[in-house]
Amino acid sequence: MSLPLLEIQRLNKSFGRVVAAHDIDLIFEPGVLTSIIGPNGAGKSTLINLLSGSIHPDSGSIFFEGQDITRLPIHRRVKMGLCRSFQVVNVFPELTVFDNARIPLLALRKRAHGLFRPVGGEKDVHREVLEVLERVGLPAEAGTTASALSHGDKRLLEVGIALAAGPKLLFLDEPTAGMNPVERSKILENIRSLSREGKTTFVIVEHDMDIVFSLSERVIVLHHGVVIGDGTTEEIRNSPRVREVYLGEEVPS
Ligand code: ADP
Ligand code: MG
Repeated sequence: MSLPLLEIQRLNKSFGRVVAAHDIDLIFEPGVLTSIIGPNGAGKSTLINLLSGSIHPDSGSIFFEGQDITRLPIHRRVKMGLCRSFQVVNVFPELTVFDNARIPLLALRKRAHGLFRPVGGEKDVHREVLEVLERVGLPAEAGTTASALSHGDKRLLEVGIALAAGPKLLFLDEPTAGMNPVERSKILENIRSLSREGKTTFVIVEHDMDIVFSLSERVIVLHHGVVIGDGTTEEIRNSPRVREVYLGEEVPS
């Protein structure tokens, strides 16, 4: 049997008296489009922060392709293929869409080839940038200044930039936050087809239930830092515990 992409064992994290992650055990297999849901303050962002390395757990372990990464800094995880996007938009507004994608691609090449070696032909970079823009549905916007993009297209650009690093696993924290319905369906279609390409496994934090249920192959439900549901959309929809937490339904346990 092959190793799981990511495995978490008994992960714990508290902030003072707030327990943001409590004994979390999870396994992520490659190619499974997964959503993490839960009420505000459930610990969703904390989990992503722990997995991507911006904070460290109080106890527990994280394995990426079998390797213990619990204490590795962010950049080492990125190099291994574990990346994230942030809840806030993060592009250079005064640069074109093309340059926004080009800068991180150049940086990646430098990292891969060493700082003082030639970074390869400008033509190759040009082609790669266009590929990135095509993958996220923005080829026509290459010459547009990023500040002129719609909010949704800025987020798509960010996803494109994150994908340019060729991650094996990509966490997206609320990718549809602040988007209108048209932008939402555009980014969702993109995530769906990128997931089908099979190069990158997506794990998404999302609060819109319609999106979660239409997109995900697996749903993980957090509540007070505890995993209270983990299964297919059908299983989650029918879970008494999840219904209780979300809908305040009285469910006998
Ligand atoms: P979610 O993303 O599900 O809304 P978070 O992971 O952001 O939830 O937060 C989980 C809990 O941990 C909340 O009660 C939040 O206030 C607390 N928390 C998160 N980050 C910090 C921090 N850096 N310092 C103190 N408390 C935090
Ligand atoms: Mg959050």
